Amino acid sequence: MNVRTDARPGAGHQTVTSCDPSHPEIADATAPTDASTHAPLVQLAWSDELLGYDFGWGHPMAPYRLASTLDLARGIGLLDSPDLQVVPAPVASDAVIARIHTRDFIAAVHRAMPDPTYGLGTEDCPVFPHMHDAAARQVGASVQVASAVASGHALHGMNIAGGMHHAQPGHASGFCIYNDAAVAVAHLLDSLDVSGRQPRIAYIDIDAHHGDGVETAFWDDPRVMTISVHQDGDTLFPGSGPATAIGGPHAPGSAVNIALPPRTTSHDWLRAFGSIVPAVVGAFAPDVIVSQHGCDSHGRDPLSDLRVSVYAQNAVAAEIHRLAHQYCGGRWVALGGGGYATYDVVPLVWTSLLAVALHRPLDLARDLPVAWVGAVEEVTGMDVATLLEEPTPWEPESVQQTRVVHVVGPSEGASAWPPTAPTSQVPAGLTRAEKVSAAVTDAIADTQGNIFPLLHLVS
Ligand SMILES: [Zn+2]
Ligand SMILES: [Zn+2]
Repeated sequence: MNVRTDARPGAGHQTVTSCDPSHPEIADATAPTDASTHAPLVQLAWSDELLGYDFGWGHPMAPYRLASTLDLARGIGLLDSPDLQVVPAPVASDAVIARIHTRDFIAAVHRAMPDPTYGLGTEDCPVFPHMHDAAARQVGASVQVASAVASGHALHGMNIAGGMHHAQPGHASGFCIYNDAAVAVAHLLDSLDVSGRQPRIAYIDIDAHHGDGVETAFWDDPRVMTISVHQDGDTLFPGSGPATAIGGPHAPGSAVNIALPPRTTSHDWLRAFGSIVPAVVGAFAPDVIVSQHGCDSHGRDPLSDLRVSVYAQNAVAAEIHRLAHQYCGGRWVALGGGGYATYDVVPLVWTSLLAVALHRPLDLARDLPVAWVGAVEEVTGMDVATLLEEPTPWEPESVQQTRVVHVVGPSEGASAWPPTAPTSQVPAGLTRAEKVSAAVTDAIADTQGNIFPLLHLVS
């Protein structure tokens, strides 16, 4: 397979531009409304060296997922969009990384030797040559696009190689060495000019795993609201993120945790997101949104037990984008994250994310580019879906559900959301699926009960 990772638009290959209305993969294009005439709508940071973040054969975080995403985006024509600027991903300096991480940990990563004190050389985070450069480049990419958004050079910024949300200030964790997301948020706090007052940043994390590292970094900082929608910590790494974790004493209500039960479906995942996230974002009124789009919540992902579809991921990406326009003048930094269904999920979710950012949402029912499908099948020796997504076997109506259900739709504040009655008294005789759905309703009520009063929202 020719995995072409030179992401520069027009880099010597023939693709259909996203402005071509005859191209079937491009749905109705909505013109940007608040991008400046000269600035690109989206800045994407990419360098092939980002593929060097590689824990080795057999590790779930395979770099191929990034290369395949770019190939798919290119095959659909997104990389040739005049609204997209692709820039190199620089290696962040130690000083930039030290905005979040301790100097002794950074020194340990430079050494690239197993050291359990720093979470290095573990099963999750084995050491590999040049690991500092690889991880620091992830940080550099996120800071690069955050800077572009902060300065107004681009309206939206994107780093699919980022979203390393588990990394802690003093140690690596959960496949994450440096926390590019936290560094990018810190950089925005330092650089965003909002007329003399303190900037406010909303971090929205939809990875299947709790965004613990970013939450830790800003636990007691009222300038940052961290929101995490995840499988509950009783059943999934890293074990944290209950609804009762609401932020430190100086920032109550600044940490929002939505902890969902195993087997949560797309429908309920969307319901949970829509019942809480737009309301708390509206109450916080951020200046910029940083979002982490880990897609390991998908039903085919091997590392979680959620059953969220590509359609639902796309719907939430569109909603986050809408929130950025509603509250932040469009300022939005979108990052990658987890996602270990490397061939049949990750490229689809992140390509559709890029399409959302470009205001050219994909028609998810369209066929995938034949060349991309062929390339993936050549690499994997497996058949891949010929459609962007087929319904998962255990959720035969997922496509219809995630198309119709739009509880994340127009938000006028908390009162606009349908009330979600607590169901702690689960009626007898429910099916297993109904019990899961009832548990999701409880989880929603739990988060609303812990957070909404602190934000003066109705609960
Ligand atoms: Zn994850
Ligand atoms: Zn936009």
